[in-house]
Amino acid sequence: DDRISVRNLVKSYPTAEGTVEVLRGIDLDIMTGERLAIVGASGAGKSTLMHILGGLDRPTDGRVCYSGQNIWALPEAGIDSFRNRTIGFVFQFHQLLPEFTALENVMMPMLVGGSGRREARENAERLLREVGLGHRLGHKPGQLSGGEQQRVAIARALVMEPKVLLADEPTGNLDSTTSESVWRLLEQVHERYQLTMIIVTHSETLAGRMDRIVRMADGRILP
Ligand code: ADP
Ligand code: ADP
Repeated sequence: DDRISVRNLVKSYPTAEGTVEVLRGIDLDIMTGERLAIVGASGAGKSTLMHILGGLDRPTDGRVCYSGQNIWALPEAGIDSFRNRTIGFVFQFHQLLPEFTALENVMMPMLVGGSGRREARENAERLLREVGLGHRLGHKPGQLSGGEQQRVAIARALVMEPKVLLADEPTGNLDSTTSESVWRLLEQVHERYQLTMIIVTHSETLAGRMDRIVRMADGRILP
């Protein structure tokens, strides 16, 4: 059983006006290798769900099981290691480190994880070539186009060989031509590595290219 299963996931925040329930009991099963799109209006809870699935944000209640293991029952160090080994993240804004080159940005997760420089460099170079940026290794994010920055972010997300790629509006900040090419890259990545992909998007057209669409509104999944 190596699917992802989410049960009764609840997330609430205390505010001055009382408690706000951002997720109100999410149940969801995601098969290994599946490509899932999550759509819904702004404020529906999509990003919050992605953060909890990826081990970045703790739920108020409920479970997120990977291969039967509830990650939120693990000690803090276990959650960190789950996140580093299992999950790759791509965000709407690339979140690359501006002072470092493309190559260094992609090497970073491996170096932080304790890999040697040579191995990190080899993997990072290979991935940057795969995303079409073999000629941009020494460029810093500010010297790259928006599409190129997202390609670097995708290479960085893959360098630890994750089993699951979580992408939150990965093309939301790009023009439609660039968006299409980044989307195609994500499809190629899926074909090559067969990883599970969960992508939040505002585009029904793009969502329709995935295996399944989940719709969210007001902290719930619509039937
Ligand atoms: P989406 O990604 O679908 O736009 P989000 O998950 O970002 O939705 O946010 C869902 C709701 O949770 C929003 O109403 C947002 O204002 C609220 N929210 C998110 N983070 C916090 C927080 N730290 N404190 C209070 N409310 C929050
Ligand atoms: P094989 O050719 O045996 O099927 P893979 O296609 O799984 O092997 O992997 C080929 C190369 O890609 C290997 O160097 C492997 O380390 C790397 N790799 C495998 N999975 C991922 C992943 N999710 N992200 C990045 N690199 C990966």
